Amino acid sequence: MTGDVRVGTVLLTPGPLTTSARVKAAMQRDWGSRDPEFVRLSAAMLDRLRVLAGGDAEHVCVPLQGSGTFAVEAMLGSLVAPQERVLLLVNGAYGRRMAEICRRIGRDFDVYEVEETATHDPQELGRRLAGDQGLSVVAAVHCETTSGLLNPLEDIATVTRAAGRRLLVDSMSGFGALPLDMAALGISAVAASSNKCLQGVPGLGFVIARHDELEARAGVAPSLVLDLHDQARALSGDGQWRFTPPTHVVAALVEALAELEDEGGPAARLARYRGNRDALVDGMRRLGFRPALEPELQAPVIVSFVEPKAEWYRFDPFYDALARRGFAIYAGKMRELGTFRVGTIGAIDTGVIERFLAAAEAVVTEMKQKLIR
Ligand SMILES: *Cc1c(COP(=O)(O)O)cnc(C)c1O
Repeated sequence: MTGDVRVGTVLLTPGPLTTSARVKAAMQRDWGSRDPEFVRLSAAMLDRLRVLAGGDAEHVCVPLQGSGTFAVEAMLGSLVAPQERVLLLVNGAYGRRMAEICRRIGRDFDVYEVEETATHDPQELGRRLAGDQGLSVVAAVHCETTSGLLNPLEDIATVTRAAGRRLLVDSMSGFGALPLDMAALGISAVAASSNKCLQGVPGLGFVIARHDELEARAGVAPSLVLDLHDQARALSGDGQWRFTPPTHVVAALVEALAELEDEGGPAARLARYRGNRDALVDGMRRLGFRPALEPELQAPVIVSFVEPKAEWYRFDPFYDALARRGFAIYAGKMRELGTFRVGTIGAIDTGVIERFLAAAEAVVTEMKQKLIR
């Protein structure tokens, strides 16, 4: 797919992930943050991200120095006013993290939680909104990276909109690959980052938001650096970020966005990720590993596999042996089920997945033999 010679480990993780030589090469130059060329680069990047989200003239993309969680915290702090109350849809660690953020920043919230292997019932969501007029906002996670589950964003958006409430979405792990049309779905804001399906390097979060809603809540953000309204105002003025921008990360993301376009856009990227996921799940099943989720809930981003209840298996030696063979997998994060995770996103194709499967097979054989000896 990219024909790159990779340096070091292949990251089969949800980000940071394996980037192409082309994206890495874009960081070879130093940019001055006030350099007009950088200002243009940054403005073009924000516009492209807004369009990728399905945003229109009503929306603005606001970047933030930091990881994805910075963007989620900024979204909740800048778009939920202290007198509002937000309903959090939780079925994994990232939903729970939004609750933790709201607790820390003093935003009132309710939680509608379901099991980590299930999705929310849109009718129940509708009932909860109808039954509590104080809930003015809903916040949801698009792909719950805890398990790898794809939440039904369209259904959630339809019900939220019909109830006349606003919807904020953490679309971190799907942005750039999963279909997303903010304007059509009436979504108020979406948070994402540079280093997942966009295949950039880590260091930049961003929120695409309705401009009027941001304006209406000017001054509510409880943090100086995570104030989306003020960051947007600075950028719309002289094009400057408040505070030092991660210039190399921006340059890498601009290159990653061009790479996305060259690949054929989000639909082509999603097709490649689906191919990766299908090859991974088939191959791992052959080795005796079972995915934690039903196939219809499994996004093509990251797969949770149930840890074998066998004497030969322990995560740490399994991880280390794979790492020695050049592959980094991810520890599990599900609450009730022992799992480990393997990512299917990044500058990787089914050739890489096949090499990983061969490594996994060798590791399983080796670990079983150790037990016999
Ligand atoms: C990765 C991720 C985040 C943010 O994680 P960071 O480590 O802060 O970049 C938030 N939500 C979801 C769903 C994610 O997958």
